[in-house]
Amino acid sequence: MDVFYRSTRDGNMKYTASEAIIQGLSEEGGLFVPSVFPHLTKTLKELSAMEYKDVAYEVMKLFFSDFTEEELRFCIEHAYDEKFDTEEIAPLSFVEDAYYLELFHGKTIAFKDMALSILPYLMTTSARKNNVKEKIIILTATSGDTGKAALAGFADVEGTGIVVFYPKGGVSRVQERQMVTQKGKNVKVVGIKGNFDDAQTGVKKIFADKEFEAALKEKGYILSSANSINIGRLIPQVAYYVFAYTRLLKEGRIAEGEEINFTVPTGNFGNILAGYYASKIGIPVHKLICASNENKVLYDFFESGVYDKNREFILTSSPSMDILISSNLERLIYEIAGEDSEKCASLMKSLSENGKYEITPEMKERCASFVGGYASEKEVFARIHEVFADTGYLMDTHTAVASAVYEMYRKNTGDELKTVIVSTASPFKFTSSVMEAVEGRKSDEDDFALIDRLSAMSSLAIPHAVEEIRNAEIIHDTVCEKDEMKKEVEEFLK
Ligand SMILES: *Cc1c(COP(=O)(O)O)cnc(C)c1O
Repeated sequence: MDVFYRSTRDGNMKYTASEAIIQGLSEEGGLFVPSVFPHLTKTLKELSAMEYKDVAYEVMKLFFSDFTEEELRFCIEHAYDEKFDTEEIAPLSFVEDAYYLELFHGKTIAFKDMALSILPYLMTTSARKNNVKEKIIILTATSGDTGKAALAGFADVEGTGIVVFYPKGGVSRVQERQMVTQKGKNVKVVGIKGNFDDAQTGVKKIFADKEFEAALKEKGYILSSANSINIGRLIPQVAYYVFAYTRLLKEGRIAEGEEINFTVPTGNFGNILAGYYASKIGIPVHKLICASNENKVLYDFFESGVYDKNREFILTSSPSMDILISSNLERLIYEIAGEDSEKCASLMKSLSENGKYEITPEMKERCASFVGGYASEKEVFARIHEVFADTGYLMDTHTAVASAVYEMYRKNTGDELKTVIVSTASPFKFTSSVMEAVEGRKSDEDDFALIDRLSAMSSLAIPHAVEEIRNAEIIHDTVCEKDEMKKEVEEFLK
């Protein structure tokens, strides 16, 4: 079955997967969505005998139907290799009453690696397929983890360049160090004086600037995105939901067809949307539990049907979830609006003009497989402390948001279905918060001293990604105002 990509805001658009991957965002600002959801062509049982790469192939071939098998396998082989410190790529840990799907065994020790280690291959393959001669310049706004994962993926990839914008002061020290020490002759990292939403809005503005686009094209450049608005990032994420389910099946923890829940620590709504897509292609999912930190705009949305970003932006210990505009929600809105792009466009217009919109009761009914929840800072710290004390399992702050929300969900609903908690970062990426949680007090030691103690205490080896930046030289120190982002891009392309 051929799958095309339509825009959430314009029903007349129709692109192949490779065209959509190159372009990133649709011209009028909409996101690309698949025209249909094909069903997995292998049974769950058959999939449970496969390793990660083969499961990934089974998923991606459905959505990227204009890629040949050879092309897709090439991308997958190069993405999921020794860059990961575990052969399973995405191992499951059974702790207390839930399964933790560990997506942090890649190069930058956060789940963004799952998609960003393949995106550069998908993108260069797409460019070749479409005879694109221009150099592809990736612009990315990051709340901390996307930036490094994208830099690591695209550094020194022929025919590409990458500029990453992050909120100065809004990411963890390890995250910042990871980015500003990035090597590569085609990379640039810029801190902006603003928060993640400012960075994301700034990037979207540059994408929407037609004059700029034309001027760049003249010079031999086209812009694309490595944010989760790119379907080249979203679709590879569907694979680990399928993989998690089939692992449980393989180990005899569930019966074929048994429904399970996923709890996902959510920011931009990309990860959890991939879980939803997995349910649409045949994974039996009961609930997708959308876990927010104190920036609980999504919780309020699922409760009330009103999305309202007009509120205080709170900096939390889970910075990758400090987001008030969850871009990928637009893809769900499009769907629950009955694939009505006009309706979707008008809601998004209301979001950009008034900072809010309300969905109809009918639309709300259509997102019944989602449940919102949120955890306060206090609950997150308590959860890390409690699980480590009880079991010795150490989780990072983002995963702890999901874990705390799941505990509350279970208590409140009595739902005892098997549940996978999507574990999005290594505790070493957020060491100072994790140590504060475990020890019950803030320490004034520097990050690397804490990292050494965390390792000794937990008997976990310090990941290579952390060792690598311990003594690395700082290469990028540019900081700009939030309305100077375009200038920084021009500067880079000079
Ligand atoms: C990006 C990120 C999230 C949020 O994922 P979304 O796809 O933006 O919802 C959660 N945890 C970590 C560690 C992340 O890096």
